[in-house]
Amino acid sequence: MTNPPAIRIDNVVKRYAGVKGEEGKLALKGVSFDVPQGGIFGLLGPNGAGKSTLINILSGLVTKTSGSAEIWGFDIDEQRRNAKRSIGIVPQEIVFDPFFTPYEVLENQGGFYGIPKADRRSEELLAAVHLSDKRDAYARTLSGGMKRRLLIAKAMVHSPPILVLDEPTAGVDVELRTQLWELVRKLNADGVTVVLTTHYLEEAEELCDEIAIINHGELIAHKPTRELVGMAREKIVRVSVDKDFAGPVVEEGFAKAEVVEPRTLEITYNRDTMSAGQVLAKVQEHGYGIEDVTTREPDLEDVFVQLTGAG
Ligand code: ADP
Ligand code: MG
Repeated sequence: MTNPPAIRIDNVVKRYAGVKGEEGKLALKGVSFDVPQGGIFGLLGPNGAGKSTLINILSGLVTKTSGSAEIWGFDIDEQRRNAKRSIGIVPQEIVFDPFFTPYEVLENQGGFYGIPKADRRSEELLAAVHLSDKRDAYARTLSGGMKRRLLIAKAMVHSPPILVLDEPTAGVDVELRTQLWELVRKLNADGVTVVLTTHYLEEAEELCDEIAIINHGELIAHKPTRELVGMAREKIVRVSVDKDFAGPVVEEGFAKAEVVEPRTLEITYNRDTMSAGQVLAKVQEHGYGIEDVTTREPDLEDVFVQLTGAG
């Protein structure tokens, strides 16, 4: 038996309103995909692809033009209340009332969801995001990273089974990024389905077990991360030889061949049309003896560039 999806997006279209009779931006062109329960799901795409639009539709901030969406089995239009209760969303933009303390921010949010005082988890949540010592500080005095963590706690106040983070690590330093990854992993290990958008491909490759890529409002890939990385068609091999290269080594099967050091050639080839062995044989045919070979495994970045054409 398989679980129903945590989120189902079905043919969602969004056209923003235009100004002065001009046609508005078509930000989503009929996007469909499911987010399975229990994992960490990555929504990737270049700037302007439509990621935030999609997430803001789920949170109710943006009204879709057509299509439908379900959160935890609840239709976002027909069963809005239940759908909203099933998801916690950390928006891309940080917005806080600067005069509330972290504790008050969480208590207010608990009140907003109608959670009785005795059942609120404000202290526990502050501890989970390592902000217990900032319990009574004004929000405006928190660092950017602390605010981001407070927003995560705020999104979890009503204990939703799904947490969505829109660009959680954009503009944060490496140390904080690692902290946030740990927090995300911990929440996921505790059973929360996590969805995050990011344009750090390394982050997606590291954290997410499944990835959807959107580009210009269209879904262009959706696969388990391993499979997606495996889609990279181009491979790179570095060959060191026994004498200086006299000139470029031109071969039909090479996508690119660059002399990077006098005796080192970096060759990009398509693994569908050539094997590494054939690549080396070609170099030898040019009269060079091979001394050393290293290969670089393709990563998510290679696939992303291949699919979106983004550099
Ligand atoms: P992403 O989050 O992937 O960077 P967005 O969803 O923010 O992309 O934006 C998708 C497209 O919709 C962009 O072209 C953006 O300029 C446009 N857009 C976003 N918000 C609005 C809005 N409120 N009004 C009009 N156009 C918008
Ligand atoms: Mg965005």
